[in-house]
Amino acid sequence: MTDSRYSWGRYPNAPQNAHTCSWRSEVPELMNKVVAGHGSTLPFGNGRSYGDSCLATSDQVVQLRTLDRFIEVDWEHGVVLAESGVTLAEILALSIPMGWFLSVTPGTQFVTLGGAIANDVHGKNHHLRGTFGNHVHSFGLLRRGQGLLTCSLSENPELYAATIGGLGLTGVITWAKIQLMPINSSQIDSTVVRFDNLAEFFKLSAELDHQHEYSVAWIDCLAQDTKTGRGVFIVGDHASYGSLSVEKRKKLQVPVTPPLSLINNLSLHAFNEAYWRVHPATPSRRWGSYEPFFYPLDRILDWNRIYGRKGFQQYQCVIPDAAAEVAMSELLAVIAASGQGSFLAVLKRCGDSVSPGLLSFPLPGTSLALDFPQKADLTALFKRMDAIVHQAGGRLYPAKDAHMNGNDFRQAYPAWEQLEALRDPSLLSRFWKRVIS
Ligand SMILES: Cc1cc2nc3c(=O)[nH]c(=O)nc-3n(C[C@H](O)[C@H](O)[C@H](O)COP(=O)(O)OP(=O)(O)OC[C@H]3O[C@@H](n4cnc5c(N)ncnc54)[C@H](O)[C@@H]3O)c2cc1C
Repeated sequence: MTDSRYSWGRYPNAPQNAHTCSWRSEVPELMNKVVAGHGSTLPFGNGRSYGDSCLATSDQVVQLRTLDRFIEVDWEHGVVLAESGVTLAEILALSIPMGWFLSVTPGTQFVTLGGAIANDVHGKNHHLRGTFGNHVHSFGLLRRGQGLLTCSLSENPELYAATIGGLGLTGVITWAKIQLMPINSSQIDSTVVRFDNLAEFFKLSAELDHQHEYSVAWIDCLAQDTKTGRGVFIVGDHASYGSLSVEKRKKLQVPVTPPLSLINNLSLHAFNEAYWRVHPATPSRRWGSYEPFFYPLDRILDWNRIYGRKGFQQYQCVIPDAAAEVAMSELLAVIAASGQGSFLAVLKRCGDSVSPGLLSFPLPGTSLALDFPQKADLTALFKRMDAIVHQAGGRLYPAKDAHMNGNDFRQAYPAWEQLEALRDPSLLSRFWKRVIS
């Protein structure tokens, strides 16, 4: 059975023919069939990667979302063993009432277990708990010609390391066993305060990060001069009291893709200004459900459609601590001067936990992520931004990327050759072909 899939940014516009199956036992035959017909393929989760790392060079993907069964759960120790197409939302629906939460979660719950491992995703608690890969006990990896291998720190450790953050290139993950963390309540106790500039962000982050499980800032990327980097700082913890309830709020939906992007300079300026003003100038405590805290964008299904048919690109970089403040202010100056940018840009300090993954993105430093409607002049802006990131010893996040140049990638991720040596030759993405050749 086949139908079309896209990456989240819908750029590049490369519809993927999705080949699906219902059972884990059918995956080897399906892969053989797709590879025999098209030369190569790529595993596909739920398409929440923005750029071209989830797009196959053959445009033929093996879609794993349909492998969505739980295999074994241990609520005494918070260990879940599930098929790789299970989403984080599905895990939370089962685990929250039992007093367990994901140890690490990205900004959407609609990603699959396989996708979370393949991009070694990170969340608002990177400074404490590292990446998703730090909490993966083991997984089953299907490689063409080798069958199903169990991978963990002690079994096939090289493949374990290469697959965590391995961009779906080492094989198909068919199941995974992950560690959850205990919670007393599904509510989040948070504190919100706005800040006036980038220097204040770094001050707040140094002061507050280590006191809280979660920390993140939204910034107005269009503010200039003395206001550069102004934003809203948010820290939070799982509340120590309250119910253990799964969020059931009704989702809204963007019904169609308009021909043109609804995001323009006027709407961006107005929104960013209003968002900053609406937040308190002195710290304000809040108590609320986990969904608006972790997944504000999940409330609107298909929100990526607002960028119109041309789609959009996300730019996410991380800059090492020593250079972060200077490089971030240069990046923000370049972005503000270009007049292009995001509704809300995300700024976040990453900690020094080491991921087991070979090609994991985070490093001790500060990460900035912003969305840009797709336009021809993005190329020039990204070139200027890339030069700043490169000069500062930083790197871009492959899960969000559709433009990175090969030299920058190979320099920023020196372990790429080890991954290439362990790549299943039948798996190839547009991203990988672009950056290693
Ligand atoms: C609103 C939003 C917020 C986000 N916030 C964050 C964030 O805070 N932090 C963060 O790190 N990321 C974030 N992301 C990115 C997202 O978490 C990752 O791109 C994630 O990997 C997507 O998972 P997916 O299941 O949709 O996989 P896909 O996007 O379909 O695929 C991702 C990669 O995984 C591979 N893959 C998928 N399934 C398998 C499998 N079974 N076996 C082997 N390889 C597989 C694919 O080949 C591809 O390389 C966000 C994305 C969105 C849309």
